[in-house]
Amino acid sequence: MSLPVVEFESLVPHKIEVNKLTEPFWSGLEDGLFQLQHCTKCQINIFPPRLFCGQCYKRELLWISSAGRGVVYSKISVSNVPDNYSITTPVDLAIIDLEERVRILTRFVPGTEIAEIGSHVQLVVTSHPDGVHYACQKSELFT
Ligand SMILES: [Zn+2]
Repeated sequence: MSLPVVEFESLVPHKIEVNKLTEPFWSGLEDGLFQLQHCTKCQINIFPPRLFCGQCYKRELLWISSAGRGVVYSKISVSNVPDNYSITTPVDLAIIDLEERVRILTRFVPGTEIAEIGSHVQLVVTSHPDGVHYACQKSELFT
C-alpha cells in the first residue's frame, strides 16, 4: 500500500545515514512504502530495523509494508532542536501505535492540525529536494 506523499521545498529534517540494515526501509520509503520487519519465528513486527528479533533473537526477518494507519499514543511539541536539523520549530512529535502493533516515533506534518492522543493518524512520505522522510497527519478516513 503506497502512502500519501507531501511535497516540501525544505531539506530532509536531518541527514540520513543509510546502511545495509536500513537500506530496504529507505528505498521502500522512496517507493511510497513504510516497511516493517516481521519475525517469521514469533510473528511480531519490528521497527526500527534490527539485525535480529528482540523477542526470540532469531534472524529470520522479512520486510512487510505497513498500511500507515495508527493512533496517537503520546505527543509533545519541541522548540529547541539541534542546529543540524533543517526543520522549523516548534516540532510536533508523536508516538503512534500502528495497526501492525508497532509503536513508532514520528512528527506531525508541519502546518497541519495536531491530532489528540487517541486520535487516528496516517503516515505520509515527505518528499524533499534531497530525499524522503516520513511524518503523520490527522486522519478521519478510518475508524
Ligand atoms: Zn522473533
